[in-house]
Amino acid sequence: MSNRPQYIFRSGELYVLDDTTIPLEIPEEFAASVADSIDLDLAGIPSTAILLADGAQGAAPVGAGRWLRLREIFGSTDPSLRRLASPSARALGLINWHNASRFCGKCGASQVDHDKEIARRCTACGGVTYPRISPAVIVAVEKGGKILLARHSYRNQDMYACVAGFLEHGETLEECVAREVREEIGIEIRNIRYAGSQSWPYPDQFMIAFRAEWESGEIHVDPSEILEAKWFDRDNLPNHPMPGTVAWNLIHGIFNPET
Ligand SMILES: [Zn+2]
Repeated sequence: MSNRPQYIFRSGELYVLDDTTIPLEIPEEFAASVADSIDLDLAGIPSTAILLADGAQGAAPVGAGRWLRLREIFGSTDPSLRRLASPSARALGLINWHNASRFCGKCGASQVDHDKEIARRCTACGGVTYPRISPAVIVAVEKGGKILLARHSYRNQDMYACVAGFLEHGETLEECVAREVREEIGIEIRNIRYAGSQSWPYPDQFMIAFRAEWESGEIHVDPSEILEAKWFDRDNLPNHPMPGTVAWNLIHGIFNPET
């Protein structure tokens, strides 16, 4: 037994024992599928994050544990599961980064772990690469008590979600929110207020959530991004993202409901 919690991931899912704890050793069934691992402090405890290869079918030993999406952990009301949210998001984000940082982006030589900090160092040019976090905004736009939701053209086409997009260089977060809504929906908004945030390590996103009000314009979607957008009453919502997602928190007023 290693006595180090082993945060094991497969296709974005975390392996959790049936008593909602993290295993202290990697099950034999998974050992041959390990693609990468990194030692980390997680929730103040020396731990290891492990990534199994894409498509690894290493089935859990019967009755010993289960695979969980992080949104099931973020959205859980079970405190023993909920306390895994922050360390498991950190573990997944860092193992994703570590696994994608084998080679130097400048010269292409191989990289090794930095000996003092969470970083990778190039064996040829000495360049140091730090973990990357990609900020993205998401916004709940309201008009006369209704909320704007849209179906995206490239994913989950049967689901209505909030407008979202990645921050671009040179923008403030508020400018990014206004641009995404203008580009995707064709309306102008005002009173953009911060509502909350959440790590979303798929593979390295950080979601910053806002609320805003419609100011002017009619819905006119960009068909390359949006299939359809509508205003919905909160008591008659269509199919939308599940509990644990930032969108669910925004749609249901979990984030800063009074502001
Ligand atoms: Zn290099």
